[in-house]
Amino acid sequence: MQERQEKISRAVLVHTCCGPCMTGVFPELSKEKKIYGFFYNPNIHPLNEFSARLMTAGFVASQFGFKLFVDADYGIARWLEVVKDFEKRCSGCVYMRLKRTAEFAEEKKIKSFTTTLLVSPYQDHEYIKETGCAIAKKTGVEFFYRDFRKNYQDSIKKSKEMLLYRQKYCGCVFSQENDKVKH
Ligand code: SF4
Repeated sequence: MQERQEKISRAVLVHTCCGPCMTGVFPELSKEKKIYGFFYNPNIHPLNEFSARLMTAGFVASQFGFKLFVDADYGIARWLEVVKDFEKRCSGCVYMRLKRTAEFAEEKKIKSFTTTLLVSPYQDHEYIKETGCAIAKKTGVEFFYRDFRKNYQDSIKKSKEMLLYRQKYCGCVFSQENDKVKH
């Protein structure tokens, strides 16, 4: 009982970019923390892809047994605001999602936030870390940083075992055209 209460007081809101990446975070982090997920990804296009990743994230939440908060608004118009500076679109895109996650954590009185983006070796890891820390300073919501890239191969294995849908590109229409790797 005491252990459970300690875990809840150490709750963390995990921005969940997709179900497969959550398999690289939850098994490790849930031993230390009470996990809440937050699906907020207006960068995922087109709509059927957005729906597929959302459903997969929901399935993972149900299998692992954590609460997944969802912003189900496709939100492409909001995201397009971010790519006004096309060259810096990835920075804006990550910032947008982490900032909203920190704000949502504050609304829900969850003291810290993190992101499954820290699992992927294909993301700009240092930028994600710096951005999370900068947002923490601004909002007062702690950013939980850990290099989860060590779990990337395990997450692929686990995703296959769970028969999860695994996407072939980062999310936006530009990455759909250019990405040659799985994220
Ligand atoms: S490649 Fe990924 S991080 Fe960059 S803008 Fe597209 S969806 Fe966002």
